[in-house]
Amino acid sequence: MQIRQGAAIKEMKVPGTVYIVGAGPGDPELITVRGLTCLREADVVLHDRLIDRRLLEEVRPNAEVIDVGKQPGNEDEQQDHIHRLLIERAQLGKTVCRLKGGDPFVFGRGAEEAEALVAAGIPFEVVPGVTSAIAVPAYAGIPVTHRRHAHSFMVITGSRSHDLQSGEWAAARSLVKAGGTVVVLMGLAQLPSIVESFVADDCAASTPVAIVANGARPHQETLIGTLGNIAHDLIPPQGPATIVIGDVVSLHQKIRWFDISYKKLPST
Ligand code: SAH
Repeated sequence: MQIRQGAAIKEMKVPGTVYIVGAGPGDPELITVRGLTCLREADVVLHDRLIDRRLLEEVRPNAEVIDVGKQPGNEDEQQDHIHRLLIERAQLGKTVCRLKGGDPFVFGRGAEEAEALVAAGIPFEVVPGVTSAIAVPAYAGIPVTHRRHAHSFMVITGSRSHDLQSGEWAAARSLVKAGGTVVVLMGLAQLPSIVESFVADDCAASTPVAIVANGARPHQETLIGTLGNIAHDLIPPQGPATIVIGDVVSLHQKIRWFDISYKKLPST
C-alpha cells in the first residue's frame, strides 16, 4: 500500500455509495487519509455542527453541501430526515459523504444511519475517525491510559446523567475508585450532579478532573481541578467540552503541549 497525498488508497465503490466518515475533533488535519479521499470524491456532503468548516474547502466545486447539524428540538425527527436525505441522494446514484465530528460510531448516531442504509439496501463504508474521547485529552497532555496510572478507560455520555443511578454510571464510579479513567462527553451541563454523585459514592474528593473545551482548536481551554472543587463557581466554557476524571489527569503537568488557555484551581 502506498499513501500519496491526494491519491485514493483504495478504489471508491460504485456510484450510490454512502461514506460515513469521521472528521476528527477540532483541527481539520485530524481527518484520516481515507476520510479526506471520500470527502474530495463526494457529489453530496452532509455534515454536522462539530466539523471544522475548513474541511468544506476540500469538497468538489459543484458538490451539494448540506448542513444537517442538529437544532434544539425533536432530534429523532431530525435524524429521520438525515436518513431520508442519505437514501434519496444515494438512490439518485450520487456518491455521498456523511461527515461527522470525531468518530462516527462514538455518540455520533452513525450506527443508526448505517442501519437505515442496510434497511434500504444502499451500499456504504464506515471510515472511522479520531475520537474526541481520546484525542481531546491528548491535546491537553492527558493520556487516557498509562502503565503506572490507569490500565483502562471508559467513555460515557453525560447527556443521560439524569440517570446517574444507572448501572453504567455506577460502573464509572467503581472504575475511578479502582484507579481507571472515565471520559465524559456531552457532560458539561450536568457536571455538578456528576461530580457530586462520584463523591457521594466514595470516590476521593481529591481525584483529579480536567475540562477541556474546544479541544484541538486554536482556542482550546483547559481547566484542572478535583472532584471536590471543579464545579465550584464554574463558568462553563463555550463550545464542546470533554471531561476527564482519574489520576491520569495529573500527567498534564508534565505532558502539556498545546494548551492555549490553561487554568488550574488553587487547591490542586
Ligand atoms: N463522535 C464524536 C462525539 C460526538 S458527541 C467523537 O467521536 O468525538 C459530542 C461531544 O464530543 C461534545 O459534547 C464534547 O463532549 C465532545 N467533543 C467533540 N469535539 C470536541 C472538541 N473539539 N473539544 C472538546 N470536546 C469535544
